[in-house]
Amino acid sequence: MAPNPIALSMLIPTAISLALALYAFTRRRVVGARAYAFVMLSIAWWSFTYGLELASLNLAALLFFGNLVYVGVVTMPVLYLILVLLYTGREHWVTTRNVILLFVIPLITLCICFTDQYTHLFYRNVAVAYGGPIPFLSATGGPWFWVHITYSYLASLTGTVLLAQILTHPSFEYRYQAAAILIGAVVPLLANVAFIFLKLRPFGYLEYSPFAFTFAGIVNAWGIFRYRLFDISPVARDMVVESMGDGMVVLDRQNRIVDGNEAAQRFFGWESIPVGKPASPAWDDWPDLLVLCQSREINSVEITRNSDGRKQYTEAEKSPLTDRRGKNRGAVILLRDVTDRKLREDEIRKTNEKLEDSLKTAEQRNREITLLGEMAQWMHSSTDMADAYQIAAQYLAELFKGDSGFLAAIKNENQMVEVMASFGTPAGDKVFPVSRCLALRHSSLYESDGGDPSRICPHLGEFHGCYLSIPLLVMDKPVGLLEVQKIRGLGEPSGSPDGSWLATHRNLLISVGQELSMALANVELRESLREQSIRDPLTGLYNRRHMEDMLDAELHRSRRSGKPVGFIMADLDHFKQFNDTYGHMAGDLLLKAVANLIRNIIRVEDTACRYGGEEFLIILPAAGLQDTYTRAIQIQKEVRKITFSYEQQQLGNMTISMGVASFPDHGNEVPELIRTADEALYRAKDEGRDRVCLPYPLPP
Ligand code: GH3
Ligand code: MG
Ligand code: MG
Repeated sequence: MAPNPIALSMLIPTAISLALALYAFTRRRVVGARAYAFVMLSIAWWSFTYGLELASLNLAALLFFGNLVYVGVVTMPVLYLILVLLYTGREHWVTTRNVILLFVIPLITLCICFTDQYTHLFYRNVAVAYGGPIPFLSATGGPWFWVHITYSYLASLTGTVLLAQILTHPSFEYRYQAAAILIGAVVPLLANVAFIFLKLRPFGYLEYSPFAFTFAGIVNAWGIFRYRLFDISPVARDMVVESMGDGMVVLDRQNRIVDGNEAAQRFFGWESIPVGKPASPAWDDWPDLLVLCQSREINSVEITRNSDGRKQYTEAEKSPLTDRRGKNRGAVILLRDVTDRKLREDEIRKTNEKLEDSLKTAEQRNREITLLGEMAQWMHSSTDMADAYQIAAQYLAELFKGDSGFLAAIKNENQMVEVMASFGTPAGDKVFPVSRCLALRHSSLYESDGGDPSRICPHLGEFHGCYLSIPLLVMDKPVGLLEVQKIRGLGEPSGSPDGSWLATHRNLLISVGQELSMALANVELRESLREQSIRDPLTGLYNRRHMEDMLDAELHRSRRSGKPVGFIMADLDHFKQFNDTYGHMAGDLLLKAVANLIRNIIRVEDTACRYGGEEFLIILPAAGLQDTYTRAIQIQKEVRKITFSYEQQQLGNMTISMGVASFPDHGNEVPELIRTADEALYRAKDEGRDRVCLPYPLPP
């Protein structure tokens, strides 16, 4: 061994290759970096051992180191092919089995090399050439040498062809990069061809392959590590990125995945980060992410997925990556689990909706209560039942807006139901027997959702829709019926039960029913009290007090209109005797009969009252003395005709005496006019009864 400048020069490619191998190891996340490091190591080995060979002085040493050189020579092309396969995205080809197969020939070559002195399969004519500045090993290739050469060239050429394909890639930048690697591949190949086949050996037996390979290594390093997206200290990067709870994926400008952390790996269920793979197809199952990668406008998307039967929400946020010159280099996508936040938001939204609903319901209730109160108030001030029904109908239309219905009264001694007021366009009969209403029959709320036609009240006939009806009870006795109907429109499907309508209207109907029952009972009570206070209970005619109240108003009207008013004072003849003969009850019946007769004879505008026991006063507005007299005569004649039997005995005929007077002929004030008619009556009695007398002085 004797170090010489030529041998020492081999330290240059050795050092450079070692440095590149180390650099590649620190960046082993980059696709192919590890394979590249191995390629560089094998070149370093090759250069170093070749340097030792060049420093050897005798054949034994030359052969020994020459064989060691072959460890690098045979492994390098195979490692290079593996690097290209990985770099061009064919990592699935790089299986353990394939790698072992690829190394079979190189291993055989090495075995043959080291045993060549016995087989001479590799070298022929081995000798030391002392012609140059230093001794060289001179030999010609044996049969296996050519196998080895063919295999090595095949491996290198395959790699080169695969790389050349990248040149057709549409992205300029990518092509640029591939071209660099291609140059790195072609240069040593050419150098090797030049040395072995063309015998271009300017330095004698000195091989320049190690230099060519080192040059290639430098060019390749530039090509492979061009994307220095994470050219920070790897330790710092790992600390930041791997410890992040959020998933992180880095994309280059062509949307290829260049980095990612463990959280992202877990999220996507990847065994390892598919560095170098384009976003599509890597994210074909995540269309939202593809949109996020490709769109310039969208910066974040929300991904929903089911994990363990639970919904999980992830927010994916994109941030552009720019280099120092502000040039776009790609993007970082951060994946943040926002499930808890989402669930909280959902909860708040739901609570809000509930609150809004409650508020709406409360507002609706408030409105209903106000309307019910108003209805009760107005009904209270209504003049009679008819008025009360009209008021109720108006409020029902407001309370059950959009629906139809009616308010009915039970009449004819609880046999018939008669619609008194309605709203909307209710279906069904206006008058029907109680038996045709299921609510009245059951004496409780009745409803039908329209699903079963047999459950619809007969009074509704052919009815399409749903309805609610409730009896109006006063002291537990049904006095009326309130019904609300939701009639199905033309477009609505038939037979679809509408339970929600029933649910929302049921309570309202019950409240309205109670309010109406009370209000109507009140009005009825008032009306009957009023009737009682102005009418005579036996005959149904007005009583004397009411008549006197009315008379003042009547005279006032007549004074203004200038029309006369007729007065008839009537008294039954010998009524005491009648009572005495047939009994008081019979007397009562007779009084009733006479009252009916008077009521039938007089005109609608006339009024009759029971003035005393068996005395009647009749007022005839716009009737002069003559007309009044004629009417009195008519009554007198008709009374005479009254015949009826009581307790199987025929009662004796009754007669009546009457005195008449007329406003303004016989006075201007009520007492004066009544007195005048009374005087005429007394005269009729005096003159023999059963007659009508005019007041004195008799008209000419
Ligand atoms: P005259 O022809 O003079 O009028 O004789 P009269 O008997 O009708 O007259 P009188 O005033 O003496 O008698 C009136 C009677 O009418 C006395 C009373 O018993 C009877 N009477 C008054 N109110 C009622 C009543 O509500 N029912 C019955 N049954 N009788 C009554
Ligand atoms: Mg009398
Ligand atoms: Mg009498």
